[in-house]
Amino acid sequence: SVEFFFTLEIPSDGHSRKRTASASGRHLGLFLIVASVTLGVGSLVWVEDPDVAWIDGEVVAVNGEDIKVVVKSSNVYPKDAEAPPCGVDDMTKLPYLHEPGVLHNLKSRYDINEIYTYTGNILIAVNPFQRLPHLYDSHMMAQYKGAAFGELSPHPFAVADAAYRLMMNEGISQAILVSGESGAGKTESTKLLMQYLAYMGGRSASEGRSVQQQVLESNPVLEAFGNAKTVRNNNSSRFGKFVEIQFDDRGRISGAAIRTYLLERSRVCQVSDPERNYHCFYMLCAAPPEDTHKYKLGNPRTFHYLNQSNCIELDGVDDAKEYAATRKAMDTVGISSEEQDAIFRVIAAILHLGNIEFAKAKEIDSSMPRDEKSWFHLRTAAELFMCDAKALEDSLCKRVIVTRDETITKELDPEAAVGSRDALAKIVYSRLFDWLVDKINSSIGQDPNSKCLIGVLDIYGFESFKTNRCLTEAGGIIALLDEACMFPRSTHETFAQKLYQTFKNHKRFSKPKLARSDFTICHYAGDVTYQTELFLDKNKDYVIAEHQALLSASKCSFVSGLFPVSNEESSKQSKFSSIGSRFKGVMEAIRISCAGVDEVTVCKKLLEKVGLEGYQIGKTKVFLRAGQMAELDARRTEVL
Ligand code: ADP
Ligand code: MG
Repeated sequence: SVEFFFTLEIPSDGHSRKRTASASGRHLGLFLIVASVTLGVGSLVWVEDPDVAWIDGEVVAVNGEDIKVVVKSSNVYPKDAEAPPCGVDDMTKLPYLHEPGVLHNLKSRYDINEIYTYTGNILIAVNPFQRLPHLYDSHMMAQYKGAAFGELSPHPFAVADAAYRLMMNEGISQAILVSGESGAGKTESTKLLMQYLAYMGGRSASEGRSVQQQVLESNPVLEAFGNAKTVRNNNSSRFGKFVEIQFDDRGRISGAAIRTYLLERSRVCQVSDPERNYHCFYMLCAAPPEDTHKYKLGNPRTFHYLNQSNCIELDGVDDAKEYAATRKAMDTVGISSEEQDAIFRVIAAILHLGNIEFAKAKEIDSSMPRDEKSWFHLRTAAELFMCDAKALEDSLCKRVIVTRDETITKELDPEAAVGSRDALAKIVYSRLFDWLVDKINSSIGQDPNSKCLIGVLDIYGFESFKTNRCLTEAGGIIALLDEACMFPRSTHETFAQKLYQTFKNHKRFSKPKLARSDFTICHYAGDVTYQTELFLDKNKDYVIAEHQALLSASKCSFVSGLFPVSNEESSKQSKFSSIGSRFKGVMEAIRISCAGVDEVTVCKKLLEKVGLEGYQIGKTKVFLRAGQMAELDARRTEVL
């Protein structure tokens, strides 16, 4: 290490201010003053470093505000000299709650395979990236049953047990929110929570296949169609999932519902290196020859929707085996073999659809399949969709525009035809996914009489979450986006112009200087710049009329069932349901618990309600007296 001098910012009162790392603290904007810290020669400190985050340091000289430390950075925090080498199982036990202290504690525990740590009654999980079966066996579940929270080592079972007991004792429904970055382990944690709830609320085996078994068994099906390899996670869920488990009066599971949000539909036709499309496509290409022959499939590298990325195979994953396992899981959740055949036929049709290329036809601005190969894929796609090949061609290359006086057929140029093709692939895929979710729900069964439920929310990929949150926080953005999506001529540029105009005086909205279609939102957590390019596409959830007509006329009842004919054509407008507006359901709850409301008022109300005294509310911080943080934490569930 290098020696150099730097200045330590110590507030004039001589106290060092530290932010609590607990999520409760973050939600409420609470900050905490810990006992006075004086740094002197020999003090152990944490020093910020851009590469390794925090470096251990020791003060070697103090000269007024200048401190000499054997390290090389600028931000310094006191280090707990008496920290136990294995860390503490609850961060609230740390004498100093600051980032390096928290990270160091997590690391010390991780080094001895303790992947779970509490912060009050929030559980922090660090992804072990290895199977730890002993941690989750039935013996473990038995131990956590009825144990007081905090008595045993931190564990998702303890969280699930606390939720279950609160529900039973107080008769109040509970929700568990699982959040974190993509690849952090949310879905795995969700499964563990479910496993424990199934254990607690299970019925005896004599009553047939249980609800809980069916919920757990639905995972492989949803994952085959809704998960994909991303940069950070080989099995990343590309949809948000809320599992609602219903209990009867005796606390036994009596029904369950799975609600999914925001499947990432752009992935169906756009994949970039080193990611993959949804697992089901690769599985089907690796199916036994009788199936691949039936669906006219072969090497996945020959399909445009798959070969845009170089990543086809996954280490340690045998797609042929996965195909068999998915088929089996589909049997288990009650999807008949005819339905399974139709599902995979649709998946194959989507792959063929993606291989149709277009060239200019004779008339200006019109298009047609480019070559014999494209014609082959068009015919095959039509065959698999069980629809008319000519009708498929027309629906890709033409638009019918109905005005007040006449009906005009507009030819699409090759680029627009590609857009139409991709839109068709996406809508079919997302309808198929919704069908699977509905099917799973009806086979699990709902309990209309259930008074108590436990919900587990597993929110997907952090980036998409941010995108969508920006939409809700600045209010009108979603409304403008919906509006833009309803006008066929909207582009991301016109949408951006509209945003600039509408929000030019909004204090949280700004336009980056050099950008033409980007915008910046000043969030609670900091500034984030968004690109409008994909906004319209990601938000669109309407069906192009030609596509609707094509597939609702399919001879396959499964396919036509995905596109039921609505009897009120006129109410099209009101039926338009964009992803953005649907997501507002989910987001409202989160917004309230985050930062959308006036923080100061919320903090005041909350502290009054708990009856704390002697605290001070500043501009952006609440200053608590010693011990008050712990008191707040202990009474948190009561307040919420
Ligand atoms: P997320 O849902 O947050 O994107 P996942 O739950 O899919 O992340 O976790 C990504 C990968 O990390 C999993 O496929 C698994 O290999 C590993 N993993 C996560 N949590 C655990 C755990 N508790 N035990 C073992 N492996 C885990
Ligand atoms: Mg996930």
